[in-house]
Amino acid sequence: MNKPKKLILTAGPSIGQKEIAYVTDAIKTGWNEKSYWYMRKFEREFAKYIGVKYARTTTGGTGSLWLGLAALGIGPGDEVIIPEITYFACSDVVMLLGAKPVFVDILKDTWCIDPQKIEKAITKKTKAIMPVHIYGNPAEMDEIMHIARKYKLSVVEDACPAVGAVYKGKKPGSFGDIGAFSFQGAKIMVTGFGGMIVTNDERLFKKILYLNNHGEDEDKKFWQTSVGYSFELPNISCALGLAQLERIEEFVAKKRKIFDWYHERLGDINGISMNFERPNTRSIRWMSSIILDRNFDTDRDKLRIRLKDEGIDTRPFFYPISMFPMYKEQNTPVAHHVGLNGINLPSGLNLTLNQVDFVCRKVRKILKVARRK
Ligand SMILES: *Cc1c(COP(=O)(O)O)cnc(C)c1O
Repeated sequence: MNKPKKLILTAGPSIGQKEIAYVTDAIKTGWNEKSYWYMRKFEREFAKYIGVKYARTTTGGTGSLWLGLAALGIGPGDEVIIPEITYFACSDVVMLLGAKPVFVDILKDTWCIDPQKIEKAITKKTKAIMPVHIYGNPAEMDEIMHIARKYKLSVVEDACPAVGAVYKGKKPGSFGDIGAFSFQGAKIMVTGFGGMIVTNDERLFKKILYLNNHGEDEDKKFWQTSVGYSFELPNISCALGLAQLERIEEFVAKKRKIFDWYHERLGDINGISMNFERPNTRSIRWMSSIILDRNFDTDRDKLRIRLKDEGIDTRPFFYPISMFPMYKEQNTPVAHHVGLNGINLPSGLNLTLNQVDFVCRKVRKILKVARRK
């Protein structure tokens, strides 16, 4: 394959006839008494797929995390433990509620929060742990739930990039008090923007519904008893979401195949590491990634620029969040190494073997490692 005419993008959904049919139907029929038809159907099917009792659509993963923390009563004076490497939505929602994010280092292999370091970060003010299933790889939920029970902490799982992942037979998002998912356009299943909040706790679910209805009194229309939110996803978007959900296993298989293609072509390079998967887990390989663990001829940022020149788009890893000016930089060596030396390679669902082959040849050339035998 020669230099592509169009940039090979890092993400991109698979949209087919089913999506078009459902969305068309929603536009035609989804009004008046059918205004919520795709919303409620999408929620029921999503809850069933994840293995939880309750699910509610939201405007996105960020909205789900925000609403979840609010429903748990997190506020000023509270601390929430989050991993250093995650999307800054996690720290934003903690800050927006007036609480304090406490950043904890990650594991070198899974890139998820390090359970042993969680315990060290717990104080009298700690109210919740927010594990993140980063890039679709499950966090160590057994250890995390054990710590949460021991210290009586709530758990809000950021499963935004992990629809379809499996940890010891159960889906991420179903372990904690709250699970948050995202269907933003770069994720494995998309609704444009959009998300879902899930829980097994009926009381908590009622609180979520109440807060997400602006805190309106249940019996007295337009009478408000708390300030609240309004984070629901339109019926038309839910039609798209439902169609995508019905195809989720196909998407997971493709993501995993893309990773295997990369691993076959880059996995032998001395000094890079790639996505890891523990036994008894299924990562959805949302973003196939490499980390430069030693000095190559080029650093991470130069590698990205040179790949761009070849028509290949990449993303840097998430930075350690404590590096941002709102926070005090933490001593989190693993997160600093991974966050400053990792890139996400093109991982869109429509990627072809030829494209992956092209990307890998360019990566090897720029890193000056010999061609594969
Ligand atoms: C995508 C993502 C989010 C945010 O989801 P939105 O739907 O864009 O709000 C949060 N956390 C992680 C880890 C994500 O990957």
